[in-house]
Formats: sequence, structure tokens, C-alpha cells
Amino acid sequence: MNLEPRLTEFLEVDCHQMFINGQYQKASSDTTISLVNPSNEKKFAKIRVATVEDVDKAVKSSKKAFKSAQWSKMYPADRERLMLKLADLIEENAEALAQLVTLENGKLVREAKSSDVLGAAKTFRYYAGWCTKLEGETIDISIKQKPDKQNFAFTKREAIGVVGAIVPWNFPLSIAAWKVAPAIAAGCAVVLKPSEVTPLSALFLAELFMEAGYPPGILNVLTGNGKKTGAALVAHPEISKITFTGSTQAGKAIGIAAMQNLTGVSLEMGGKSPGIIFADADLRSAAKGIAAGIFRNAGQVCVAGSRVYIQRNIFDRVLTDICHAGDSMHISDGFDPQADIGPLASKAHYKKVCNFIEKGTEGGSILCTGGSNPKDKGFFMQPTVFSDETNDKMIISEEIFGPVLVGIPFDDVEDGLAKANESDYGLAGTIWTRDINKAMHCMNELDAGFIGVNTVVRSDPNLPLGGFKKSGIGSELGKGGVYNYTKIKAVNIVY
Ligand code: NAD
Repeated sequence: MNLEPRLTEFLEVDCHQMFINGQYQKASSDTTISLVNPSNEKKFAKIRVATVEDVDKAVKSSKKAFKSAQWSKMYPADRERLMLKLADLIEENAEALAQLVTLENGKLVREAKSSDVLGAAKTFRYYAGWCTKLEGETIDISIKQKPDKQNFAFTKREAIGVVGAIVPWNFPLSIAAWKVAPAIAAGCAVVLKPSEVTPLSALFLAELFMEAGYPPGILNVLTGNGKKTGAALVAHPEISKITFTGSTQAGKAIGIAAMQNLTGVSLEMGGKSPGIIFADADLRSAAKGIAAGIFRNAGQVCVAGSRVYIQRNIFDRVLTDICHAGDSMHISDGFDPQADIGPLASKAHYKKVCNFIEKGTEGGSILCTGGSNPKDKGFFMQPTVFSDETNDKMIISEEIFGPVLVGIPFDDVEDGLAKANESDYGLAGTIWTRDINKAMHCMNELDAGFIGVNTVVRSDPNLPLGGFKKSGIGSELGKGGVYNYTKIKAVNIVY
């Protein structure tokens, strides 16, 4: 693989430092984490683990930047211009950024470019438009004024302050953009804590912020793990809001910790999303869509459809088609142009997925295809399909976050819906039918925040994404995404 010259230069340092106040700064501790290329298991970089003192330094720098006249008095149209400039820079560096994401996370370089990098640029462009569209309301209040008085009441939206953004490794850049873009559009400053598995693309992004001309401190990036760096960020009293995407387990801990300081939180968490295929659907396209939904990015997609409920009379036929779609995927290094599926992102995650597959077989589910690593090196996993008659197995209830699907038959609409809704999670779901009445009924009844009818669920900057039940609190993207980072001030003027 030929790395882009800017990326080669970026990777030349012995150990990557934190990005605070417009420059790289050494962490106060010497603790480091090595980054491993998941395709060949070779170490390729090192990062520092930011401590409580480093977190304090970053938050103070962001707070200063947030309050500075350069930022707080900047006209919305100038904030918009900066965001568009940043989007241009992301696009100009798309190849280098995509290669970096592939090195860190293993995903196909073409998907890193289209989803992560160009996806991030689209999100910055979308929210650039919102800088000039934030507004309050005039309100006729309900209680009358004294006879000789009148009033004028209104609301205004203000930026909430310094935002702590904590993101996972599966889409390191695009998910960071879902948080950073609306927060800076609203006029906030952000301290970003990327995953310890994929921290470098966030540092690269911070460099582009400086190139675009942002005041130092508007985006600071702290590298490190969740337990130390992430927890210190959540506990910092000068953070106005924590926005988190990751596992339900970590989200819960973060929610509880944030309440100690009454810091606002929005939590985007795990999923175990169902697909429901009815016999009247376009079965080929349904099988293709279900396969794409679970095997894309090696199944490491929050909205991946990891359970598929197939009407009993077409069950064998459709599950066979899904298995064939999985079997025909070429498993290889993300830099291989022929690859359809890359490795899982880390050794720890690979072991977790292997363990689930083992538990699936032990629990009596039928392994229809896949289930092993076809390579000597790298954290690869074949597209894997189980089938089961019942809906109560661990591989059906717990999030695996790998290319692992379970197919379960159902009899009629209500049976399919009941089985699909039998989950602690409620992130997403898909419905496959040619009957619009059935589709509308299922769309209403499916207890999930993001639904696709006859399509794989895919995010869009203008479509809110948020989970129900244990999948989340709040949502991001769309208009609400930028309001997440504002507070409403109500004013009543009596005259
Ligand atoms: P994770 O929860 O292990 O880590 C996510 C981030 O949180 C990382 O930066 C990590 O360092 C940090 N972290 C972990 N524990 C912390 C703590 N106690 N305090 C502060 N920070 C902490 O998740 P992951 O393994 O990186 O990502 C996979 C998970 O993310 C899956 O569960 C997936 O469903 C979820 N996800 C959800 C969405 C969504 O939109 N709902 C999108 C993508 C991924």
C-alpha cells in the first residue's frame, strides 16, 4: 500500500501527543497505548493516555476559547464559512484520512473514504447551514399583565459551553463529526475523546481545524482510554454537556457519573436491530439488503440488523440467499481493492465475537455458514449466519457487533412484531414487504428509533438518529442535533 505523503509524515512521530490549544502537547504521564493494524497485527503507532491534569488543561483551553471575543462575537455567517472551509479540507485530504482510518480500524479503504471521511465532510457542510438559522420564538404568555402594563416575551438560544464528546471506533470520523459539527455550529467549543483503538483520525481532524483558521481550543483532542481519560472528562465540572456514542454498558456508567455534577448527557448506545421479511416482499432485494446491513463494516455498525425474522413459508429460501451473499464476500485487508469485508477492529473485540459464536453453537443454534477466521494473521471473521426456532438465546438478545446474523421464523404480522420487539434495545429496524398497509402498521409498532422500509438503514445528516429503550437517551443529526448544544433563555419584558 502506498500511503499519501501527508499521512506518511503524520505517522513519522514516535508517539502521538494530545492536541490542545492549537498544538500538540505532551501528556503529563508516560503511559502509552500501542495501535495495532487489525489486518496484520503489526503495531504502527503509539498514543499517550491523558490524565486528570491533561483533561483539566484541555477543558480550560476550550473554555477560554469559547468565551473569547474571537469566537463568541463571531458572526454566524463567519462560523458557517469556517465550517465550509473545514469540509473542503477534509475532502482535499480524503485519501490520507481514509488510509488512516483503515490502518486504525481495518475497514475497507473505499468505505472509510465514502462513509467516514466524505460522510464527515457532508455533516460539516450540513451543519454549516445551521449556523445562520438558529432562532428563538416570540411568545404570547398566558397570564395577563396588570391593566396598565404590556409585555413582550421571547426565547433565545445560546451555546451551552464546552462539550465533552466521547466516540467509539467503528466510524471514528463520521461519528465525531455528528457531535463536533453541530456543537461548533451552535457556537460551542469541544473536547473530543476518540476511542483508544482509533485516536489518530481525530488528531488529524484537529490539524485541519487549525488549517481552516479556527481559534485554538475550539477543538481539543485528548487521547487515552475510557476508564482514565474518558472518566476524567465526564467528571470535569466545567463541561456543560457530555455527548457519548458507544456501548450501553459504558453509556450507563457515563450517565451516572455525569449526574454527580448535573452535567447534561446525550447517549447513543448499542443495538440489536431486527429485520422482518414478509413473504410478499421482493425476496432477492430483501436478502441482499439484510446481508448488506449485517456484513457491511464487518458488522461493526450500530444500526446493523443482527436478527432477521423471516416468514415461515419462505424461511429456508431467504436464509439460503443471505448465506450465499455472505459466502461470496471476499475477506481481505482493507487496502485490498478486491476486499468486501475487512477484519474486526481489535484483538479484544475479535475475541469477544469469537466467544459469542462459540456460545451460539453451544446454546443449540444452528450454524448455517461462517463462524471462523480464514486467515493466519489478522482479526478476520467470516460472514456468519445462525438459525434458531426460538427467540431467547444469548446470541439473539446480546449485541455482538460483528458479522453475525441470526435468522428466526415467524408466522404472521403480530408474531413477527412481537419477536422483533422482544429486546432490551431499540435502535433500528427494517421491514420488507410490498404491502404498504403492512409496512405502515409495522413501522408504527416497531419499538425502535430508526426504521427502514425495503431498505437498509443508513444515516443522513438531516435525519435524526437515536435509540429507544437501552439504545439511548436523546438523538443526534438533523435540526435537533444542533439544538442539543444550545440552551433556551426565556425573556419577558414588561413595559
Ligand atoms: P465503548 O463503550 O467501549 O467505548 C466508546 C467510547 O467511550 C471510547 O472512546 C471509550 O474510550 C469511552 N469510554 C468507555 N468507558 C468509559 C467510561 N467509563 N467513561 C468515559 N468514557 C468511556 O464502545 P466501543 O466498543 O468503542 O464501540 C462499540 C459500541 O458503540 C457498540 O455498542 C455500538 O452499538 C455503539 N455504537 C452506537 C452508535 C449509535 O449511534 N447508537 C453508533 C456507533 C456505535
